[in-house]
Amino acid sequence: MNQTEPKLVKIAEESAPLKPLFGLGEAALVEAVSILGEPAFRGRQLADALYRQRVTELDAITTLSKSFRDRLAAEGFSVGRPRIVQVFQSVDGTERYLIEDSTGNTVETVWMPEGDDGETGDGSEAGDGTGTSAEEPERNGSKARRRATICVSSQVGCAVNCQFCLTARLGLQRNLSAGEIAGQVVSVLDRHGVEVGRDRVNLVFMGMGEPFLNYESFMGAVKLLVEEVGLTPQKMTVSTSGIVPGIERFAAEPATLRPKLAISLNAPNNEVRSEIMPINRKWPIESVMDAVRRVPLRSRERVTFEYVLLGGVTDTPEAAHQVARLVRRTGLAAKVNLIAWNPGPGVPFEMPRAGAVEAFQQALAAEGIPAYLRRPRGRDIYAACGQLKRTVEG
Ligand code: SAH
Ligand code: SF4
Repeated sequence: MNQTEPKLVKIAEESAPLKPLFGLGEAALVEAVSILGEPAFRGRQLADALYRQRVTELDAITTLSKSFRDRLAAEGFSVGRPRIVQVFQSVDGTERYLIEDSTGNTVETVWMPEGDDGETGDGSEAGDGTGTSAEEPERNGSKARRRATICVSSQVGCAVNCQFCLTARLGLQRNLSAGEIAGQVVSVLDRHGVEVGRDRVNLVFMGMGEPFLNYESFMGAVKLLVEEVGLTPQKMTVSTSGIVPGIERFAAEPATLRPKLAISLNAPNNEVRSEIMPINRKWPIESVMDAVRRVPLRSRERVTFEYVLLGGVTDTPEAAHQVARLVRRTGLAAKVNLIAWNPGPGVPFEMPRAGAVEAFQQALAAEGIPAYLRRPRGRDIYAACGQLKRTVEG
């Protein structure tokens, strides 16, 4: 036995995965370098390189000495930021990415230039105004500020099983780590040369997965994106299918870290909602609304209720009336985002009839509920809401 032991150890060493630095905040990086006998400022240099300079290789961190970079590599560290491995481009400018982590798993992220109007009217800096060049004067007479929205995944697949959603067909395959969630954003910012603080980039946690069923990693990613990357939580929106314990935790987050909240209502009453979103049997509409009322809103902030219009199921005038009543009863500063259902192979629903979406919007408006249409983006590349299923066709 003794003879084989060294060999076993060697195999373990060889197959040990590299330790990603990406995903560690500044405090954790300072701690990691201090274990190697380096001063705290080395950790801060690392944070700067990973999150502000967006390096992808240790050797690109030129603020560190070559000997320290070699030492990090010898200790098994790597940058380890998830990489974009495939890009699908839509005729409307939307891009869908497959992003791969160090273990070879992929997730999906979407870049929507000019956004999808999802944040219109939510009272935030991100949502107000159109952000067109007419409103945003060019800086230094050169490049105009840009506006875009990045749609971020929180899990591979999803366990919630909404009947109209293509992602649900995958089931839950894996939770993403904080680094994998934040890494999607930094990789896309890098690809488009986004200047944080100048370009107007909104984040929506509305890709694959249910963020509130991967709460620690989701909020860990938000913390990295706010504290290290420099994005503001008022320009981020997290969407949940109504995971009540998650909403309660979220209500206790500090305003400096808390994104805006969107709730996937999707149905006018518990009966229909339980049919299309089985999670409603566990947390029915009233319990979700009670939890949402506990989330403190910043000044001018509104809660968004998302509502997918399923032809003949949720798009009727009576449904609009019921939705208006539900939203009014919450007493919240709220708005409704209407999304025409995006079809997917084998998903047994129909798109709403022509005119039904506008009629629904007008019916809500007539009852005093602000309602906006989300533009479907990138349908031709399976990038639109509910279409993310790691489809490899362009
Ligand atoms: N899991 C979270 C966030 C991801 S889904 C949630 O459900 O809120 C983001 C939004 O896409 C949700 O509002 C969901 O209702 C909507 N959606 C899902 N499938 C859709 C489809 N096929 N067409 C249009 N919207 C869809
Ligand atoms: Fe999951 Fe959201 Fe799709 Fe429902 S709509 S299955 S919660 S990703």
